[in-house]
This record gives sequence, structure tokens and C-alpha cells, in this order.
Amino acid sequence: MDIGIIGAGNVGIGIADALAYLGIGKKVTIFNRNIDKALGEIWDLNDSIPLLNSDMELFATDNYNDLTKCDVIVITVGAKQRPEQSRIELLEENLKITKEIIENIDKVNLDAYIIVVTNPVDILTRLAIEISQRDKSKIFGSGTVLDSIRLKEAIGEKLNINRKNIHAYIIGEHGDSEFPLWSACHIGPLKLEDFNIENLEEFKKETALKVKNRAYSIIEKKASTRQAIGVSVANIIKAIALDEKKIFTLSTNIGELCKCIKKDVCLSIPCVLGKNGIEKKLLMNCEEDEFELLKQSAMKLDNIYNL
Ligand code: NAD
Repeated sequence: MDIGIIGAGNVGIGIADALAYLGIGKKVTIFNRNIDKALGEIWDLNDSIPLLNSDMELFATDNYNDLTKCDVIVITVGAKQRPEQSRIELLEENLKITKEIIENIDKVNLDAYIIVVTNPVDILTRLAIEISQRDKSKIFGSGTVLDSIRLKEAIGEKLNINRKNIHAYIIGEHGDSEFPLWSACHIGPLKLEDFNIENLEEFKKETALKVKNRAYSIIEKKASTRQAIGVSVANIIKAIALDEKKIFTLSTNIGELCKCIKKDVCLSIPCVLGKNGIEKKLLMNCEEDEFELLKQSAMKLDNIYNL
């Protein structure tokens, strides 16, 4: 697989590192407006390739023509959150950048899958779908993939169960209105309700809050997040490359599934991902209160989009 990464910042390089460490991708091209930063990053990563299970070739560029043959292009460019700043507050700065990037990618490559990572990811994914000339199904956002991993980790830690045996999803906005789809949470064969958790409501509230605040906590300590988003996006790319049919909570429009949510709004729901991109969007009969939260999340994102 030939992969393009727009942005040689924390997230862009976090993704490149993860691809190299996991042995995903044959050719990775890193695009950055400051070519020297991209060159320095690929030289550094390149020196580690002989020690890894990877035969990846790395390139740096500031020219969109070098992305013509990419199968997947990941957008990571833009302003990042400062401590206590919400993802939504990045919108003004990142809207213009994302629009320009999509228009430039469209001029050279209309076939690649586009994965939006820049925040606010749901709104920028919607923008990308609206303005790009490519097949709309080829564009989605990394959404709440990382939040869902954090949720499994938080549940596993509290219940002393291996996270790999926990099925749990954060859906809605990748941001302050996100929430766990508790009705679909399973610990091995058991529904969460059947696990005999003392004070279940308190457990749910604390866990959801911990997950929601995780990025804020990390940004407060080290100014940005990098590792986990890098590995998350590398796993999304791997699912496409190897046709894995794995389930990820990706940002996508759910109009056809939910008539009462405006069709263009993008937010995260569990999606089956394979060589054809999002092959199925899964939105089960969630509880009424969960559906209400999803609607609220959608309304918030729609209002901001239309400002
Ligand atoms: P960073 O500052 O380290 O890197 C940003 C990159 O964008 C740099 O390469 C910079 O040169 C480039 N850039 C900034 N403004 C530009 C412009 N006007 N034109 C062209 N290039 C420009 O930031 P980061 O930590 O890599 O974060 C990047 C984005 O990813 C942020 O929006 C951040 O919020 C988002 N992010 C998303 C998730 C997620 O789960 N979706 C997780 C972490 C970070």
C-alpha cells in the first residue's frame, strides 16, 4: 500500500512511526509545507527501518504531485489544542487549511481513501465529503477510534479484566458530546448490566468522564497527543490494506441509517472496515436515552457547521 501523510507534526509522524513499527505500507510519503521538517523526520525514521520488520520506503515532499499514486491519504495538518481548549475551538483555523488541502489532493488523485484526523474531525470530515469530487464513501474521519480504545482500557482496569475481552464503543462527536454506547457493552459473554458492578450508574459516569477528559489530561502534561493516535490510524490503514473487516468507530454520515439526523452530519458510529473502505455502518437499536444523546451530538455538530 502506498500511503500519503499530510503534515509532519506530532500526529503525522506518530502515524508514520506506527506504520513502520507495525510493518504496514510499502511506500510512505510525508507532505509538509516546510520540506526540511519532513526531510529530517523521514531521515530519522529511515535510520530505524533496518532494525524493524519493515521494508518501507519513505519520501518527503512539498508537492501534491507526489501523492498521485497514493492508495490512502491521511490529513493531519492544522492547529492543535492548547491546554483547556476544546477541539471545536480549532475550527476557524483548520477549516480553511482542510479545504485547501482537499482541493489540492483532488487535482492529483481522485482514487485514494482520505482519512481526516485534524480536529474538529467530524466537521472537517463533513467538509471534505462536501467539497471533494471523489466517491463520497472514500472519505471518513478517525472519529472516536482512540476514545473507544481508551474506554475498553478504562473498563478493563476497573473490572480487572483483559481489555481484549471487552467490547465497548464511544459514539457521537469526537469531543465533548461523545458518549459510551453502554447498551452494546459486553465483558466477554456478559452484558455490562449482568457483571454485578456495585453502583453501576456511578461506574458508567466516572468511566465516561475519564475517557472524555483523557486528551485534555495528556495535553495539559505534554502539550499534544501522538503515540496512541498514530497507532490507531495505522490500524485503520491496516484494516483497509488487509481487508480485515474489523469494527472501528469512524466519523461518517449516518443519514441513511437515521432519518431524524440530518443526512450530511458526520459523527462516529461502529463501522466495518475492509478493502472497500467503510463496508457497513452499524447502528443497532440503542436505548432511547442513547439515541437522544446521539441526536444532541449531531445537532451540536450541525449547528457549528452551519455557523
Ligand atoms: P502539530 O502542530 O505538531 O503539527 C501540525 C502540522 O500542521 C505541522 O506540520 C504544521 O506545519 C502544519 N500546519 C499548521 N498550519 C498549517 C497551514 N496553515 N498550512 C499548512 N500546514 C500547516 O500538531 P499535531 O499535534 O500533529 O496535531 C495536528 C492535528 O491533529 C490537530 O488538529 C489535532 O487536534 C489533531 N489530532 C486529532 C486527533 C484525533 O483523534 N482525531 C488526535 C490528536 C490530534
